[in-house]
Amino acid sequence: MLAPARRQGAAAAADVIVIGAGLAGLAAAHHLIDGGLRVTVLEGADRVGGRMATDSVAGFRLDRSPALLNTSYPALGHCSALRGLPLAPVAPGAVVRAAGRGYRVGDPRGARAAFSPVRAPIGSTLERARLGATLSRLAATPVPRLVARPETTAALALGLRGFAPRTVEGFLRPLLAALLCDPELVTSSRVADLVLRGFARGRTCLPAGGAASLPRALASALPPGTVRLGTRAARVAVNAVLTEDGTELPCRGVLVATDARSAAALLPGLRIPAFHQVTVIHHAAPSAPPLREPALVLDADRTGPVSHTLPASAVDPTRAPAGLALVTSVVLGPPPDGDDDKAIRAHLAELYDTSTDGWELLALHTDAQAVPAMPAPHDLRRPVRLLSGLYVCGGHRGTSTVQGALHSAGRAAAAALRDLAPAGHPGRRDNAA
Ligand SMILES: Cc1cc2nc3c(=O)[nH]c(=O)nc-3n(C[C@H](O)[C@H](O)[C@H](O)COP(=O)(O)OP(=O)(O)OC[C@H]3O[C@@H](n4cnc5c(N)ncnc54)[C@H](O)[C@@H]3O)c2cc1C
Repeated sequence: MLAPARRQGAAAAADVIVIGAGLAGLAAAHHLIDGGLRVTVLEGADRVGGRMATDSVAGFRLDRSPALLNTSYPALGHCSALRGLPLAPVAPGAVVRAAGRGYRVGDPRGARAAFSPVRAPIGSTLERARLGATLSRLAATPVPRLVARPETTAALALGLRGFAPRTVEGFLRPLLAALLCDPELVTSSRVADLVLRGFARGRTCLPAGGAASLPRALASALPPGTVRLGTRAARVAVNAVLTEDGTELPCRGVLVATDARSAAALLPGLRIPAFHQVTVIHHAAPSAPPLREPALVLDADRTGPVSHTLPASAVDPTRAPAGLALVTSVVLGPPPDGDDDKAIRAHLAELYDTSTDGWELLALHTDAQAVPAMPAPHDLRRPVRLLSGLYVCGGHRGTSTVQGALHSAGRAAAAALRDLAPAGHPGRRDNAA
């Protein structure tokens, strides 16, 4: 026990207390409840969702993270509350700004379909065919085979694949930098392969209505009263949680589903990873930028601060009020020169090949600990069971993505169910075949 100021009555006790109502904590709560356990989720903030947050400003919906999803994320289908979630698809492939011109690159229509670069900044027909074949092969490779490959950094692996420098610099590097939030590509080559595989198999999309619609869908499908907002955990043990206001909540198990740094504070011994800083910028524009289709626009020239940008309301019309457009852009790192919007708008004018004079800055969020870094060697299945009764999940236990957060939640909940599920439950350790 944790020497509490007050102890909550046993009648109110949960079997498992989940700490953190981000995607991982909410998904874990679903799995545990489905397994027959009573669950309470404690959330320190006054809303659910953690990093998947959307602010409403003057009729715009502004995500604090770009929240690029992919229809190939298997974990989106593993939680019933997320299965019907409306997703707004981005145009297949991407537009790349390279050598001062915009090119449409890559159009992986349909799962396993051949990847077909069109009008790429990629030199010869042979080189385009090689890129198409590599991505089609990646799309068809089973995950266990991908993660058994030798591991190095994503940047080195790109060099070893034998692509011409133009292919790497003109497409693969900016695409991976955007998908991994890692401009230097120090991420594990295995993670990069997984991300490219997803890009080649599925469709990039945004959650319709904003990033917050994912955690909201999960939270609203939980039994009423499961989530307690404004309740921070200060200490944990296998059989109790002490909250910051000094209340001890008894339980049979604790699942820590916070960000990496908060998890390490609650569970000393857990490693704190390095992080990639990400800055997200939203502009209101009089009309959507002049693209043929609402595509992800990548910067290959690196002549300005923006890594990638998206005509967000052209992808998901709920994000802007009638008659206006929302453009969402990402700087991988801190914002330029004391939040100077001029440099950002000048770069966006180049990327979209249009004037941005009438664009208005709506919001700029920077998060120094946005994405836990995944340098090689990276363990894709970090332990989620610390002791019988003590579990941990979140993006930092696998890959630092929505898929990673949801997948780790499934693994941690399965481990908790093996230890704690009611007698006779098929997931229980003593009932396992
Ligand atoms: C800027 C940015 C860009 C991103 N881009 C993408 C992308 O394009 N695609 C993608 O797939 N992923 C992206 N991600 C990653 C994705 O958002 C995360 O992997 C995912 O949201 C993590 O969910 P989580 O539940 O693990 O953690 P979190 O969302 O961090 O949730 C943890 C929760 O725990 C709560 N908490 C912390 N400490 C305590 C405590 N002591 N007591 C109670 N509650 C506590 C926090 O308030 C929070 O609500 C991005 C993230 C950021 C920040």
